Amino acid sequence: MDKASGIEQLRDLFLLRMHEPEGAEHPYYTTGSIIGAALLRVAVIVTALLLLNERYGATKWWWTIALFALWGIGAYPAWVQYRRFNESVDKMTEGTLCGSCRHFNPTNLLCMVLDEHVTSEAPPCEGEAWEPKQS
Ligand code: SF4
Repeated sequence: MDKASGIEQLRDLFLLRMHEPEGAEHPYYTTGSIIGAALLRVAVIVTALLLLNERYGATKWWWTIALFALWGIGAYPAWVQYRRFNESVDKMTEGTLCGSCRHFNPTNLLCMVLDEHVTSEAPPCEGEAWEPKQS
């Protein structure tokens, strides 16, 4: 499958799809991309709200609508996506060799030794650099 172009990646980031696009490289969403998408959406919403406020003036419902827009369009999709991301991290932590390794960083699904994203199929180091987590 072809890799997504820069514009397609930006569109996916802005839309913050609930499921990874078909053919996406794994992992498609990480904590950083989710936060980045939320900030981008909030920035666009705030800009739109300020422009509309300039043009039409604030009414008594204006800031209530603004807060609902910021939460419902800006932050809520990111929150839902973050919960889904955490569920996938939990699955990986429980079901893979990397999940039980001390070099696995669950924040971005990264192997800190190889600086590579970990997939659910096989450890990039083929198990050679695995070390148990310390409790
Ligand atoms: S060192 Fe190997 S087992 Fe540990 S996280 Fe990296 S790839 Fe996975």
